[in-house]
Amino acid sequence: IERTISIVKPDAVGKNVIGKIYDRFESNGLKIVAAKMKHLSRAEAEGFYAVHKERPFFGELVEFMTSGPVMIQVLEGENAVAKNREIMGATNPANADVGTIRKDFADSVGENAVHGSDSAENAAIEIAYFFAATEIC
Ligand code: ATP
Ligand code: MG
Repeated sequence: IERTISIVKPDAVGKNVIGKIYDRFESNGLKIVAAKMKHLSRAEAEGFYAVHKERPFFGELVEFMTSGPVMIQVLEGENAVAKNREIMGATNPANADVGTIRKDFADSVGENAVHGSDSAENAAIEIAYFFAATEIC
């Protein structure tokens, strides 16, 4: 059993599709074991995406991630990291498979509806970034 972080980004929260996205997780055997809605500060977004700070899109990414509230959840299940990435689809929705969250709800590579941890190691770091151990059920 594995855990991963999922974030419903400001574009998808704004489109009022949190529930539709949660349904994708639950329908695919991922269980929500913690969740919080939060409007990230600049410092929180910069810290979360610190690995991307040298990338040309970093400023745009932080701007977007602080543009409105996000819904952050811990997902638990067999191969949760890889399964969540599969359900999300490719980073660029134009390349995302039919039936994925990004294909159905994202508009562009920048505003792409969801985040998911890319490894079990990063999942542990990202979970600790947003949740105390006592907040996970
Ligand atoms: P995430 O980390 O959000 O789950 P990802 O792992 O699919 O997405 P990364 O390469 O980690 O993709 O990029 C992190 C985020 O940065 C992307 O989700 C997207 O919002 C943004 N991003 C990535 N590439 C670009 C780009 N070329 N232009 C604008 N934004 C980008
Ligand atoms: Mg990533």
